[in-house]
Amino acid sequence: MDPSLTYPPDADLRRLLRFEPDSGAIWLGERRMVLLHTAALTALRHDLITSVGKEQARRLLTRMGYACGLHDAGFAAKTRGSKTLEDMFLVGPQLHMLEGAARVTPVRLEMDAAAGHFDGEFRWDDSWEAHAHRLKYGVVDEPACWTLLGYASGYTSAFMGRLILFKETQCAACGADHCLIQGRPIEEWPDGDAHRQYFEDDSLLEKMAALSQQVEALKSSLEPAESGGMLVGTSPGFQRAHDLMRRAASTQVTVLLTGETGVGKERFARALHAHSERAAGPFVAVNCAALPAELIEAELFGVEKGAFTGAHAARAGRFERAEGGTLFLDEVGDLPMPAQAKLLRVLQEGEIERLGSESTRKVNVRLVAATNVNLETAVARGQFRRDLFYRLNVYPICIPPLRERQSDIEPLAGHLLARFSALHHKRLDGFSDRALQALVKHDWPGNVRELENLVERGVILAAQGGVIEAEHLFPNQPDVAHDGLDPQGHLARRAPQDEELLCERVLDSGMPIESLEARVLALAVERSRGNLSGAARLLGLTRAQLAYRLKREQATDTD
Ligand SMILES: [Zn+2]
Repeated sequence: MDPSLTYPPDADLRRLLRFEPDSGAIWLGERRMVLLHTAALTALRHDLITSVGKEQARRLLTRMGYACGLHDAGFAAKTRGSKTLEDMFLVGPQLHMLEGAARVTPVRLEMDAAAGHFDGEFRWDDSWEAHAHRLKYGVVDEPACWTLLGYASGYTSAFMGRLILFKETQCAACGADHCLIQGRPIEEWPDGDAHRQYFEDDSLLEKMAALSQQVEALKSSLEPAESGGMLVGTSPGFQRAHDLMRRAASTQVTVLLTGETGVGKERFARALHAHSERAAGPFVAVNCAALPAELIEAELFGVEKGAFTGAHAARAGRFERAEGGTLFLDEVGDLPMPAQAKLLRVLQEGEIERLGSESTRKVNVRLVAATNVNLETAVARGQFRRDLFYRLNVYPICIPPLRERQSDIEPLAGHLLARFSALHHKRLDGFSDRALQALVKHDWPGNVRELENLVERGVILAAQGGVIEAEHLFPNQPDVAHDGLDPQGHLARRAPQDEELLCERVLDSGMPIESLEARVLALAVERSRGNLSGAARLLGLTRAQLAYRLKREQATDTD
């Protein structure tokens, strides 16, 4: 074995593994994992072989392994981006061991990333898959570590940026003492082409993906562009609101949109307009809360020249500008009393009167009002006219808050991701599992608007070509208590403040840092019963680093 091929300490990889029994999740970095019984996997493997045949089962399992390797390759640059190319590559074999596949020993590793050259040989002891195969089929003629090989190929292909094929030159399933694997670019294997089928997409799956894309395209073409494709959702509450909107569109009825702030009331109003016969006419939006009370009447109904000081010219109000179209009055509950009286007249008579004018004008405008306050309560408090409330409340549509539409969060986030990626010229591979879980768990006080802001921030923060991670969306989230692997490999609870407390106690003890180090080193050696390699592992050091430190200790002792 090449002596340079010793594993660097794997503390960086252990740290990736987090057990969160309270939330029922296990994480490897941002990727969600599960703990499976090899007995169950063995049974699944056997069922696959009996139901679809050996060749097809081998293909499916190779592809599953390939996907695992592909995902794990993302951790290489992330954890050891600043280390040597070899140390970075060894993340794969070390993670494969941590995940329980086999004991992996590098035999030979030649790599030239720029030239795309790869030639590697590894030894696997105790492959779970070789055990599983022998258990069901006894000693066989052909190597059987399909998922493990898929992993090696997937990891290395992603690492090298080209398809690297690994094959077993001997396998424990064939009666050997251990398995041996070799990897090279697929073109360099004489029978490489015959192996391509194990990595290629299933044509059936491809067809299904194409079909579902067609359906998506159809859906989005049904959605008018004016809504920005944002009326996305299949949850019952959202569908109910959407159906009500579609049915109101073809009529002239005044619509009242209710719901918390940020649920997308203006988008609903725009979609209603776009689906109506008025679609070719103007859509004019007014936020009643954003206009000062003394200006609101002039803004809505217009002014005649000289109506008040400063009215130098006649000006049309929003009602006139919405002629033939739709006027959207947002936060209608904030309308001052005098303006409420005038609005009621417009709704009753279908005509407006500019400020300072003696005459009235007919207007043909469809009114859509929206509020995030309860208008009935406002009526009871005397802040809103009862008669106007009845006029507006002919056709109420309540848009549910995002936290009541959990199943819509993922498709909505996907839509926003596509939109903001295009806007910010980013190519992203979606959200990490952890980011998606954080999105679904979040309470969303700011509803869809808050989701929009978070996804846009995520798109900006994520690395080009990468995924949006939880910390890109929620940068200031406190770290939750979780279980991780301690150096002995046991699960240990880690509260985020533990390390902080430990440091504080060390400081408070007044112990000099040298004697602290000496005592910790001595304890590690004692716990591993004098075995320096074992002690080094406990400390997250290499054996050489530990030996150096111990030597330095002895030198200072004898000084
Ligand atoms: Zn094998």
